Amino acid sequence: MVKLKDTILEADTLVTCNPSNKIVKNAAVFISNGIIQGVGTKKEINQNFSASKIIDGTNKILLPGLVNTHSHSVQTFLRGKADDYALLDWLKEVVLPGEARFTSEEVYYSSLLGFAEMVRTGTTTTNDMLTTHDSIAGIQAAEEIGIRARIGKMLMDYNDDFSEIVREDTETVIEGARKQINEYHQTHNGRIKYSLNARFLLSCSPELMKLIVETRDEYEDLMIHSHASESQAECDAVVKMYGASYFRSLKKLNALGPETILAHGIWLDDEEYEIVKQTNTRITHNPSSNCKLASGICDVLRYHSIGVIVGIGTDGPPCNNNFDMFHDMRLAAFLQKVKHLDELALPAEKVLKMATIEGAQALNWENEIGSIEVGKKADLIMVDSNDVNSFPFYNPVSHLIYSASGKDVSMTMIDGKIVYQDGSFPTIDIEKIKKAAEKYQNKME
Ligand SMILES: [Zn+2]
Repeated sequence: MVKLKDTILEADTLVTCNPSNKIVKNAAVFISNGIIQGVGTKKEINQNFSASKIIDGTNKILLPGLVNTHSHSVQTFLRGKADDYALLDWLKEVVLPGEARFTSEEVYYSSLLGFAEMVRTGTTTTNDMLTTHDSIAGIQAAEEIGIRARIGKMLMDYNDDFSEIVREDTETVIEGARKQINEYHQTHNGRIKYSLNARFLLSCSPELMKLIVETRDEYEDLMIHSHASESQAECDAVVKMYGASYFRSLKKLNALGPETILAHGIWLDDEEYEIVKQTNTRITHNPSSNCKLASGICDVLRYHSIGVIVGIGTDGPPCNNNFDMFHDMRLAAFLQKVKHLDELALPAEKVLKMATIEGAQALNWENEIGSIEVGKKADLIMVDSNDVNSFPFYNPVSHLIYSASGKDVSMTMIDGKIVYQDGSFPTIDIEKIKKAAEKYQNKME
């Protein structure tokens, strides 16, 4: 066999998240042109490939990059500004006015800081909602740092209860989205895909929803990303505005289906669960956000029992207050155990799948990412297993879900390119971003 030359990543432990959940000790992965070409033991890889670069994996766990299925990178500058609110007041009093007042430069740096935190803590793909205005600056931030994303402007045209300045008229919303689709969808070798981010039904008129659905159906691989059935007060308001419950209204609008992903999905009746199942709609569970806003607990087990694909998301810093998927993986497991009073609910192996391959499925990206398999994109992370929280080390998956945190991530690679390693961010100037956050803070104080 001809020995190919590129990069070999070694690891004491390799967690593949492949269909047989294979774990390999003394492992290595060979990558070339951003694609995984070989997976096996160190010995097997060294026999078949030679590399110009070897990344040492002593005391490291190598696993697929985490997939965050619901985020608001642009809200990062509002971290710590919106604590202890319930959803609708949280939106009206802090988040919507905060987003509305961001300058283009603030959209850029706030998003970039959010993406930096994601790659620092092991997220390689995110499903991200930006602002109504100046959202191009947020897309540029994703392009620059090198994160994989479904991303786009925030779409909202309606609701007298919410601040006038964050909404646009219906035609302007859809024209803006179409312009961005044509410019950014499926760019950077498919790393950036556009997302139709309809904020939620309370901020979108039926006319706008109709145009969003038409746009989704017109383009290849374009998804609708929205919030649904997050709090009881929100669900009551939707019934008032649309004349039917949340998921019945979305069904009537033809807004459901495998190319729609909805954040939260907490307050559903039996028929609504059936609607999610029948339409094969994707759900993103956001445990920290649901706890902090006192919204409720998503019944992940019920979704799994009817075959619904559920990813895990962090939501935004005003309701989390960070982008560390390790926190949300652990909390996802704990919440199902306590909700169902069942210690076997959502074991570590299942949670890790939700944050990797099933998150990829939720975003219709599973053919390219979400597991370490030959032919997939080299979106990989290394987690240190030599710190005090790693001893003893019986089971790597138990360690990743119940003991590790994002701060244990030592390297993050996307498309074969290192975007974080041992405290440094090769694609961005992190000090400049921190200064921009301080400048915003000074302006707000
Ligand atoms: Zn959200």
